Amino acid sequence: MAAMRLAALLAAASLLFAAGCESAAPAEPAPEQEQAPVAESGSDGAAAPAPEQEPVEPPPPPPPVEATLVAIGDVMMHKPMLPGAYDKETDTYDFSGFFAPLRSLFEGADWAVANLETPIAGDDRGFPGYPMFNAPVALADALVDAGFDVVSTANNHSLDQGFKGLAATLKTLRERGIVPVGTAETQEEADALAIVGKNGVAGAFLSYTYGTNGIPIPKDKPFAVNLIDDARIAADIDRARTAGADFVSVSLHFGNEYQREPNDEQRRLARLAIESGADLVIGHHPHVVQPYERYRVDNPDGTSREGIIMYSLGNFVSNQFGDYKEYGAVLKVTFRKTYQADGAAVTTVAEVDAIPTWVHKYVDGGKTRYRVLSLDEVTLESGDPLLTPRMISTLIAKSEEMNGHLDKLAAAAGTGQAPAAEKE
Ligand SMILES: [Zn+2]
Repeated sequence: MAAMRLAALLAAASLLFAAGCESAAPAEPAPEQEQAPVAESGSDGAAAPAPEQEPVEPPPPPPPVEATLVAIGDVMMHKPMLPGAYDKETDTYDFSGFFAPLRSLFEGADWAVANLETPIAGDDRGFPGYPMFNAPVALADALVDAGFDVVSTANNHSLDQGFKGLAATLKTLRERGIVPVGTAETQEEADALAIVGKNGVAGAFLSYTYGTNGIPIPKDKPFAVNLIDDARIAADIDRARTAGADFVSVSLHFGNEYQREPNDEQRRLARLAIESGADLVIGHHPHVVQPYERYRVDNPDGTSREGIIMYSLGNFVSNQFGDYKEYGAVLKVTFRKTYQADGAAVTTVAEVDAIPTWVHKYVDGGKTRYRVLSLDEVTLESGDPLLTPRMISTLIAKSEEMNGHLDKLAAAAGTGQAPAAEKE
């Protein structure tokens, strides 16, 4: 009997979970469950009478739902990265190799987010490389094929191909179903919030940059690139909350290039974003990995909540090598949305992981190619034909070093790797 009741409860729970998958709104209340205690078997019917006028219990809240976000750092397009992806026969590019080893990680997440540090302004413009980037349209194909949903387009290269290039990039991304954030062709576009719902959890994505490499934002189009501004970031977070976002992710293109520790301004700004209501800050621009931080802030009602600040994810793929520039990170955050007795939903960070990555530049078939590997997955047993045992032992040591570097702020704060405490 108890087992049957449990089965019924589980069935109800799975129905609710399915309902939760389709919408960010709270699911329907569960059908009424048996409340009265079951009479003991073998009794002669003289069991105590059931209490009369049992108070009507409110329907139980829906079960919690979880959804996972992964984020990568800079996707770049330096000139040496082009020939290995080019097919002379068909006159086409294919960049899927960059993402192939980690594709299941991206596809398996509910949201995969990247910093696109190059316009994709049209192949007719050519691909000049640094400092005025333009990437083949095939890069957008590779991103969508690898499972990316959202890309941050606010960075110091947003205007490398001018405003027309910025607008063409947005069009190319949107045509492929990727949501670009941080740049806009019109004021209306700039004002629209990017809220992407997955598995019953609505995530809002915001993005800002410190500047545009001295290329002026057109005077008549001040909305074209989101610039970092304390008041504006706080107001946008507020708007996203009001619009029903369960969590808010803020991408910040900031910090000092090639510095492995966040500077004071990064700390101030990222913490301000969390204090203003963001749950996650995704940093990039230094082109090297900076550690992540768990930052707890007090709510007005006396409770507290935790935000995650990834100061810099480093390069995901680039032709920059040496001084840690070939090492990046994938940030993985699991959000849990819990319904309270009054039906209100609270979304918290349930789990955080930062996975160190490495850009492998190698020669295959006479061509120089690039791929990105998870350092945590490099083993002697993997049988990867492109890695020698000596390379593997170096990478295993790097994995340990990079994991320590990524986790050190969280570890120093005494919070370690334990998941955030559940708030009921
Ligand atoms: Zn940058």
